Amino acid sequence: MECRDAQFYLRMRRHAADELGPDVTAPLDAHLATCPACAADARELMSFDRAVASTMVNVPIPSGLRARLIASGAEKQGTALRRKAYRAVAALAASLLFAGLALGVFTNTRPKPNNDELVALNDRLLSDPQQSTKEWLAAQKLPNELPLPFDYTLLVSLGYEKVNGRDVPVIVFRSPHPDPANLGEPAGFAKVYLFPHDGRFDLKNLQESQASLTRAQVYVGRDAYRGVTYVFVHTGRDLQKFFRTGNVGAIHI
Ligand SMILES: [Zn+2]
Repeated sequence: MECRDAQFYLRMRRHAADELGPDVTAPLDAHLATCPACAADARELMSFDRAVASTMVNVPIPSGLRARLIASGAEKQGTALRRKAYRAVAALAASLLFAGLALGVFTNTRPKPNNDELVALNDRLLSDPQQSTKEWLAAQKLPNELPLPFDYTLLVSLGYEKVNGRDVPVIVFRSPHPDPANLGEPAGFAKVYLFPHDGRFDLKNLQESQASLTRAQVYVGRDAYRGVTYVFVHTGRDLQKFFRTGNVGAIHI
């Protein structure tokens, strides 16, 4: 096989390796084994392909291109056709390269999770849960305090849940441990869902609700809590065990 043909089949093999018969691949490999220039070319193509393949997700390859390349390579050896095939391969390579570059740019603009920030955030949540909660509520233009005297040492998270497909702020408290009354029961929790009266939800006449493990209670905010409907979903009979011990006074919601 001559260098010219080796170069051609080399490029074709990248995209249609399984469709080149042994009558082509055997002489091609024999040539690559003896021709340092073509062998170097083959290595370069392979490393390019690997680089592209590692970033490629899905680029449509023109239908019929492979068949056309095979046909033009296997049946016709005309220089003009070969040149045409080269151009098609070059165009395909260019589109792959472009997609790779686009993906690279995309990768560079996506945010990378910063674990230093994540642990700092969670450290603060643990070391000063009440203040963290205040700031979190304030950042969302919600009343800075909760209407019930929760024990903030039980705070687990400040976050969001999807309710009817919409993000709703949720504060999660865990049950105090140990809970001798509930040994063997699932770990208990109280979640506070905050629904601001901003028109996103129909909050009229929300009802209390109870299932076998959890219960929902509703508090429509008044005074300092005006403009927010609080829904408390909790395990157990009532919310008492999630409150600060001591002088909590009478609590009605
Ligand atoms: Zn050669």
